[in-house]
Amino acid sequence: MIRAGLGRDLHRLVPGRPFLLGGLRIEAERGELGHSDGDVLTHAVIDALLGAAALGDIGALFPPSDPRWKDADSLELLARAWALVRGEGWSLINLDCVVSCETPRLLPHRDRIRASLAGALGVSPEQVFVKGKTGEGLGPVGEGLAVEALALCLLERNTVERNP
Ligand code: MG
Repeated sequence: MIRAGLGRDLHRLVPGRPFLLGGLRIEAERGELGHSDGDVLTHAVIDALLGAAALGDIGALFPPSDPRWKDADSLELLARAWALVRGEGWSLINLDCVVSCETPRLLPHRDRIRASLAGALGVSPEQVFVKGKTGEGLGPVGEGLAVEALALCLLERNTVERNP
């Protein structure tokens, strides 16, 4: 059985916060506002994985109302969500992502972001890809007020064989 999962997240960019993508800290003038560490890409990945397995979403698993997740390491949240998904027998075929922001440019950091996410998931970096886009000056992304991430994953598991 193969299932696709889609995740999307958007965070405000504000001064005085780290800019994190897939667990990698990138030098930038502004960083992501969020209840956790604000890692917008990791949040989109979590929702893609949970969605493919029909196991809920990031808001249900790690509600902002719960003080346990204040300033939480998003890679730790990813590890918890992925353990849940793997526990249902799923493994990852591939994960493809798009990050949209005006600055900084993502390309110089791409391979380290891929390696970081792959490490958190226990898969090969070849199974993870990330692309950077800008907002062409339009909307909150284009005005540099926000960063947006999209993630698409494919999961597979063996169907349970029943005794005849
Ligand atoms: Mg988020």
